[in-house]
Amino acid sequence: MARLGFLGLGIMGTPMALNLVRAGHDVTVWTRSPQKCVPLAEAGARAADTPAGVTSSCDMTFAMLADPEAARAVGLDADGAVAGLGDGRGYCDMSTVDADTSRTLAVAVARAGGRFLEAPVSGTKQPAEQGTLVILAAGDRSLYDESGPALDTMGKKRVFLGEVGAGAHMKLVVNMIMGGMMTAFSEGLALASDTGLAVPDLLEVLAAGALANPMFAAKGPLMAAGKTAPAFPLKHMQKDLRLALALGDAQARALPTAAAANAVFLRARASGLGDSDFAAVHEVVADRDGV
Ligand code: NAP
Repeated sequence: MARLGFLGLGIMGTPMALNLVRAGHDVTVWTRSPQKCVPLAEAGARAADTPAGVTSSCDMTFAMLADPEAARAVGLDADGAVAGLGDGRGYCDMSTVDADTSRTLAVAVARAGGRFLEAPVSGTKQPAEQGTLVILAAGDRSLYDESGPALDTMGKKRVFLGEVGAGAHMKLVVNMIMGGMMTAFSEGLALASDTGLAVPDLLEVLAAGALANPMFAAKGPLMAAGKTAPAFPLKHMQKDLRLALALGDAQARALPTAAAANAVFLRARASGLGDSDFAAVHEVVADRDGV
């Protein structure tokens, strides 16, 4: 059986790596804050001291890191993931980053004699725990095929989109739509409250019609109750809007709705909500002075 590595044990990485261990894979982990390795070690994983220590001892290594800066640092630093690659060993970056970051990593991995796959995911904390993520892969087809058992442990569906960059693009398009939806939903909740409508009534009407979707159904009651435990950190949602807007710029594509949503999320970050769930954006929308 392939030896698997995992870098980055945050909200998503921890349950994804735990699922690999529980499925019986031989897993070695590294993360920046070593104490976060403890639950993995207790479940049976090994811990390495550096990213290179993981990639040099594993057939394929997955990474789930915060943003492009983290993905580049963990991949490219002196004791980073690339330094441990060679002999066709695989590196699969599942972080949400821009295509340029993915391509930079792909080139460095190839120079080191490794194979690269980008595989950002759609789905949040609970799907990561349940192994029901949707995986948006692109890059080395042979690595994609060999990673199948591991990817299928972490996700319920996977697509292969072709050249490196296509996975990043798909993920940014999806999350740009989601950021706009969450902002519009927050405005709807605020306006409903202003007019004396009961939030449960609004949620019932939405759920019965063409606007029904799992995000409104799951987040709506929590937002109304002011209990949005962090599943998808708001700072990461704003990062994705920022990266989507940069992609739009590069395509000479105006994205006015995404730009407006980004401004609201920036305001929410400035209000100290960066580590809250992205649904907490409704707090600045609800505050008449907040936007
Ligand atoms: P998270 O909880 O913030 O975890 C981020 C991980 O990156 C942590 O292990 C963190 O280490 C590490 N990290 C951050 N900066 C670093 C640096 N400079 N060097 C080394 N490591 C660094 O984020 P998450 O929610 O798991 O999300 C991870 C990625 O998946 C992000 O790209 C996010 O956009 C994407 N994503 C998230 C969700 C979601 O619902 N949460 C869903 C789909 C996709 P420390 O623990 O030391 O800070």
